Amino acid sequence: MGNSMKFDTILVRYGEIGTKSKTVRSRFERRLVENISERLNASNVSFSSVEARDSRVLVYTSDEKALESLSKVFGIVSFSPATRVECDLDTIASKCVEIACSSNAKTFAIRTQRVFKKFPYTSMDINRIVGQRVVDELGLRVDLENPELEIGIEILSDACYVFMQRIDGLGGLPVSVSGKVVVLLSAGIDSPVAAWLMMKRGCSIIAVHFKQSESEYSKFMEICDVLQEYAYASKIERIVVSYEKRILPVLEKLWNVSRKARKWTCIVCKMMMYRIAEKIARTHNAHAIVTGDSLAQVASQTLENLDAESRAVKINILRPLIGFDKDEIVKLAKKIGTYRISVKKPYTCPYAPKYPETHASLEELSKILEKADLNLLA
Ligand code: ATP
Ligand code: MG
Repeated sequence: MGNSMKFDTILVRYGEIGTKSKTVRSRFERRLVENISERLNASNVSFSSVEARDSRVLVYTSDEKALESLSKVFGIVSFSPATRVECDLDTIASKCVEIACSSNAKTFAIRTQRVFKKFPYTSMDINRIVGQRVVDELGLRVDLENPELEIGIEILSDACYVFMQRIDGLGGLPVSVSGKVVVLLSAGIDSPVAAWLMMKRGCSIIAVHFKQSESEYSKFMEICDVLQEYAYASKIERIVVSYEKRILPVLEKLWNVSRKARKWTCIVCKMMMYRIAEKIARTHNAHAIVTGDSLAQVASQTLENLDAESRAVKINILRPLIGFDKDEIVKLAKKIGTYRISVKKPYTCPYAPKYPETHASLEELSKILEKADLNLLA
C-alpha cells in the first residue's frame, strides 16, 4: 500500500475481544484502552485521548512514534493511521481525491467498511460513488485486484476515517484480562518466549528466577526489561530465589544416597523449582506455573521426565512451547527482542550430571526420594 500520510487519528482493530459477551467485551475494551494509553505514555508519545467506539479503538494523535508503540500492544489485530472527516459522502470523496492526488499511483481501489450500520449508504455504494469521483477528477483507473493505491474508508457512528495503510498488530488479548501466572524465567532462549506467549493470551506475569550466577541474573533482569515493554501498566514482578540456599541443600541430600542417584539431579531440581513457584503462585493469586520446556528439545525434556517433575505440585503447569521446534522459538525470541540477551555468555549448570535420567519412572523416583528423605511428591 501507499506511503505514509499525515494523520490525526489511529484506527485500531481488535479481533477476538469482538466475539465475547457484552460485559466481558467492555471489560476487555477498557483494558485495551488502558494498555494503549500506558504504552503511549511510556514512549512519550503525545496524544489527546484513547477511546473505544463501535468495536474500534480510536487513538487521537498525529505522532509517528505511536505506530511503533502500538505494534507492541497485545490485543490489536491491525491499525491504520487515518484522517477523520465528517460522515458526509461529498466530504469523504474530496478527502479521497486529495489522497489519490498526492500519490503517484495510476490505479486504485476504494475499500469501505461500514462499522456503523445506520449510515444511509452501503459499502458498495460508497466504493462506487467515491471511486467515480477519483476517476472523474484525476483520471486514475480502478483496479480491484492489484491496485497501486488502496484507500480504506471506515464509517463509525461519530465520524468517518480515511486511510492508506493497514499495519499488522501482535494479535492476542490485552495483558492482564486472563489473570496471573508464575513464569520460571531462566536467562535462556526458551522461557522468555514462553512468558511472552502467556502475556499474549492476556496474562500478567510474575517472573521467578533461581539465581546461580551474577551474569545469568543480570541477563534475567535485562530480559524482564524487554518483556515489560509488552506489559505496560501491569508491572512484571521479579522474584529472585537463591539457588545455593533453596535448591543446593536438597540436591546434596540426593547426592548422599549414592553415586547413581546423581542422575536424578535435574528432575529433583525442577521439582524444587515447581514447589517454590507453587507457593509463590498461591500467595500472589496466580493460577499456573509456566516453563519454557519443549518436548524432547534436550534429553531431559521427555514426556516421562515432565510427568515425574510435575508430581511435585498440584498447581497447573503450562508449557506453551511444548510443540515448538527450536528454530521457531529462536525466531520468536528474535522478534520479541530477548534473543540477543539470552545468547550472551552461555551458561551451563555445574550440577547437571553427565548422564541424566531421561526416562524417569515414577516408581524409581519415589524410591529414590524416600532414600534421600525428601518429601517432594504432592
Ligand atoms: P531455557 O532456554 O528457558 O533456559 P532450557 O532449554 O535451558 O530452557 P532447562 O534448563 O531444562 O531447559 O529448563 C527448563 C525450564 O525450567 C526453563 O525453560 C525454565 O522455565 C525453567 N528454569 C530452568 N532454569 C531456571 C532458573 N535458573 N530460574 C528459573 N527457571 C528456570
Ligand atoms: Mg536454560
